[in-house]
Amino acid sequence: MTKERILIVEDEEDILELVRYNLAREGYDVIEASSGEEGLSKARSKKPDLVLLDLMLPELDGLEVCKRLRQDDEMVNMPIVMLTAKGEESDIVAGLELGADDYITKPFSPKVLIARVRAVLRRGSAVPASEDQTLSIHNVVINPGRHEVLVDGEPVSLTYTEFKVLHYLARRPGWVFTRYQIVDAVRGEHYPVTERSVDVQIVGLRKKLGDAGEYVETVRGVGYRFREE
Ligand code: CA
Repeated sequence: MTKERILIVEDEEDILELVRYNLAREGYDVIEASSGEEGLSKARSKKPDLVLLDLMLPELDGLEVCKRLRQDDEMVNMPIVMLTAKGEESDIVAGLELGADDYITKPFSPKVLIARVRAVLRRGSAVPASEDQTLSIHNVVINPGRHEVLVDGEPVSLTYTEFKVLHYLARRPGWVFTRYQIVDAVRGEHYPVTERSVDVQIVGLRKKLGDAGEYVETVRGVGYRFREE
C-alpha cells in the first residue's frame, strides 16, 4: 500500500514540527508549506490525500486558500482539515461553508491530531449514501423513500423538515454542518427555513428520537453533526 500523503500549510515552525513528527511517526508521507501560496502550489503539484490548513497565515490566509482549492476542478474533493485557534468559531463556520471537511482547535494533542486525520481520510474514501438509500446507524433506520424513521424498530413520527434535517446529518455521520449548510440543504419550495429555526427543528427532532436524540450533537458555536458509529 502506498503511504497516504499529507500536506501541512502552517507558518509557525513549532506547530509544523509537532505535526510533521507525529504524522511521520504514524507512517504518513508528510509535505510542508509555510505560506498560503506555497500551500496552493504544492497541493496542485503533489496531489496530497489530505491538507492540514492553518487559517492564520500571512498574506494569503487559510480561508482564501480553502476557497481557491475548492474552485479548482482537480482539488474540489481534496480533504481539508483546518487548524484554528480557540475562539475562532466564526472562521470555522466560514471555512466549513467554503468546503473544508473538518477542523482541529489549537492547542491540540498528537492523539487528537491523528484521530482526526484518520477519520477524515476514512470518510473521504467511503462512498456517500445516495439520496434515496436507506440508512442504518446506531439503532436508527432512516428510509427516505418511505419518509420513515425507526428507532429500535419502532416508527417515529417526524415533520417534513425534521426528517430532512435528520437525513441530511445522518448521510454523513461525523461531519460537522453549519446552520447555513443545513438550511441550504433542507429548504423546500414551500418551507422557508431560517438558520435560527434550525435550532428549533433540532430540539423537536431530539425529543422525538428519545434516547437516540443524543446522536444529534451540538458543536458549540459551529453547528450540528450526527455521531459516528
Ligand atoms: Ca499561523
